[in-house]
Amino acid sequence: MTKVHNYSAGPCILPQEVFEKASQAVLNFNDLNLSILEISHRSKDFVEVMEKARALVKELLNVPEGYQVLFLQGGASLGFLKAAYNFLPPREKAAYINTGSWSTKAIKEANRIGEVIEVASSEDKNFNYIPKGYGIPSEAKYLHLTSNNTIFGTQFKQFPISRVPILCDMSSDIFSQEIDVSKFDLIYAGAQKNMGPAGTTLYIVKESALGKAGDNIPTMLDLRTHIKKDSMFNTPPVYPIYVSMLTLEWLKKNGGVPAIAKQNQAKADLLYAEIDRNPLFEGVTAKEDRSNMNATFVLTNESLKEDFDAMWKEANINGLNGHRSVGGYRASMYNALPLESVQVLVDVMKELENKKG
Ligand SMILES: *Cc1c(COP(=O)(O)O)cnc(C)c1O
Repeated sequence: MTKVHNYSAGPCILPQEVFEKASQAVLNFNDLNLSILEISHRSKDFVEVMEKARALVKELLNVPEGYQVLFLQGGASLGFLKAAYNFLPPREKAAYINTGSWSTKAIKEANRIGEVIEVASSEDKNFNYIPKGYGIPSEAKYLHLTSNNTIFGTQFKQFPISRVPILCDMSSDIFSQEIDVSKFDLIYAGAQKNMGPAGTTLYIVKESALGKAGDNIPTMLDLRTHIKKDSMFNTPPVYPIYVSMLTLEWLKKNGGVPAIAKQNQAKADLLYAEIDRNPLFEGVTAKEDRSNMNATFVLTNESLKEDFDAMWKEANINGLNGHRSVGGYRASMYNALPLESVQVLVDVMKELENKKG
């Protein structure tokens, strides 16, 4: 098989050994002579998977006592609504920072339940920076953030200091760097950006913060439903949870979050250095807010597009086109993308300069 350098923004690259183990489990799981796809989610073998996945999340992120870890469905997109249902009493206020399309969607859902105060937004510059220097109204029940803006390529390097609880959509940078979970009442993340395949969504929730948002939460959207049943209220997405568990095992074996954070920094440094050095390219976002996960950049001379596109495709690079709302290029450098793949991209950028610069 040809090695492909996969920069896909999500679903995205996962470790090769995870793909191998995951495919084996489809054929014969745990030597049961059964596929993982055909056993009960209540069987001992699957309950162990669920327990292990939840324990790995706690271990890898140092989740403190009093927090619950859940693997649910609906994607981060349903998380927007769940966050509001579980933390915002009807007609009360919540503060949101609008840093891109995902934040905008989160705001829309919260507005169904209560009143959103948009405390800051970077929409004036097509979301190419993280707003700073805003106040957080004390009447807000919480502050909601998107830690990494997958589409625009910005990332909070520091979380705001807030007197109201913080809820955070960490879909595209969870497990990429160390975080202090105790700073958040809720963290949620779709699996398919850094943790596993599409189909499950991780929730890390401070249990004592629940129960204050009224009693009219639909059963499936009420996080307490799932806490009571150990994330097994209904049939969980068994395969995405299994593959997420394998990916978390891989992460642990490779030194955990501190080790991967160093590698992620090295990858981002390598690529951004080339974007800044090479006169044919320029970054899209404010330098201090650059995402270590999704680097967005453009050609300084659009007429080189055809040449550049042909060259990176020739180098077996996949998934480099920018999102339609930004254009240009986006290199998504999630945990499983090796440094060598970034070097291949940097070499192609240098080659373009040598040929056309
Ligand atoms: C991809 C993404 C989402 C949407 O996730 P789904 O699982 O597709 O609903 C939400 N927020 C962020 C930051 C994302 O990157």
